[in-house]
Amino acid sequence: MTDLHDPATFRAALRNWLDENDLTPPGDHSLEGHMRQFARVMRALYDAGWSRYGWPERAGGLGGPAMLRAIVGEEVVGRRLAEPGPYSMLEVLAPTMIDYASSELAAEMVPKLLRGEEQWCQGFSEPGSGSDLASLTTKATQRSDQWIINGQKVWTSFAQYSHRCILLTRTGDADTPNHQAITAFFVDLDTPGITVRPLRTMHDVDEFCEVYFDDVAVDSSRMLGKPGDGWQLAMDLLPYERSTCFWQRIAYLYSRFDALITEVRADGQAVDSDLGETYLALHTLRCRSRATQHRLADGHKLGPETSIDKVLLAGAEQRLYDTARDLQPGVVELDDTDWRTEYLYSRAATIYGGTAEVQRNIIARRLLDLGKE
Ligand SMILES: Cc1cc2nc3c(=O)[nH]c(=O)nc-3n(C[C@H](O)[C@H](O)[C@H](O)COP(=O)(O)OP(=O)(O)OC[C@H]3O[C@@H](n4cnc5c(N)ncnc54)[C@H](O)[C@@H]3O)c2cc1C
Repeated sequence: MTDLHDPATFRAALRNWLDENDLTPPGDHSLEGHMRQFARVMRALYDAGWSRYGWPERAGGLGGPAMLRAIVGEEVVGRRLAEPGPYSMLEVLAPTMIDYASSELAAEMVPKLLRGEEQWCQGFSEPGSGSDLASLTTKATQRSDQWIINGQKVWTSFAQYSHRCILLTRTGDADTPNHQAITAFFVDLDTPGITVRPLRTMHDVDEFCEVYFDDVAVDSSRMLGKPGDGWQLAMDLLPYERSTCFWQRIAYLYSRFDALITEVRADGQAVDSDLGETYLALHTLRCRSRATQHRLADGHKLGPETSIDKVLLAGAEQRLYDTARDLQPGVVELDDTDWRTEYLYSRAATIYGGTAEVQRNIIARRLLDLGKE
């Protein structure tokens, strides 16, 4: 019998299955089209078992090392069957639910996400609280066995397509120390009092939203952890957002690097040192990210060292698209191609998941022990 918990055997079997089961996108390049295709791919992978590997059985998974789920993401996104953005939300939010939701809630909800039945979003940032996340002001007040939430989130990716949100709120009173005053909830986005307003990005896609909460009642059973655990939840979630969730994005960037070489050669240009340096940046990122995947698979807890992964990702992604712009003069500026959209989106790589400056602060203070700002 084949051992599907062995990564090499797993990858070979998955590749065979993907070759035999055509999940090619229908060619709808709108964000709605991408979200529909993502749901279609996830459902097919779940029903065939693939997207359940690498996740614990208590949350609907089929067990095995976390490496297996990284392989699924890499194969699926590398073949451009699904876009990296929605895929990465899964890798950020599901581990947090498994660690912080009650076992009943995790067992009920995580399979819905893995099967593409639902999309979830991350409600952390607010108009006045991005880098300084601990200053968030969205307030949750207890009323018998419910919590009443008031406030506003912003830059909430895919909120308009989402069924649920992992939401950070402020609880406690004025004397509660900041980091003990933050509490997380798992909120249904169809609860009365929630308004979602999409925001248009400069690459012309409504990728993220403002989300308003006006007297939104949430049951106590939807609290993630205990009152005051929200800061620790965020500290546990962000390392995924800064590292493992990019593994499949790296496969995507490699596929774009290959496409760039093909286009450059078709133009009769030489493959020059700019492309060599881009390849080196991508390869360095992949090596670092691979080491992180192995640490996770070996049972290590991810922490501030993932800021290095995030710095490398942002640098490699922006270098790739800078090179694409330099080698195809005018294409980014004047033509309505994927290169233009992706070039513009690559500028966000030094912002989402914590800005490049904030990552460097973490590396300086927490990894190199260089003291406070
Ligand atoms: C594409 C995209 C998707 C996103 N998706 C989500 C999402 O799904 N959910 C969510 O909650 N958020 C999301 N965000 C928000 C993101 O987390 C924040 O934009 C980010 O944390 C920065 O916060 P800010 O925008 O408030 O900028 P600020 O914190 O106001 O920063 C402004 C500038 O000041 C610099 N700065 C701030 N503090 C320091 C410091 N101490 N030292 C040095 N420099 C500093 C920053 O580096 C930056 O250049 C998304 C952002 C983008 C671009």
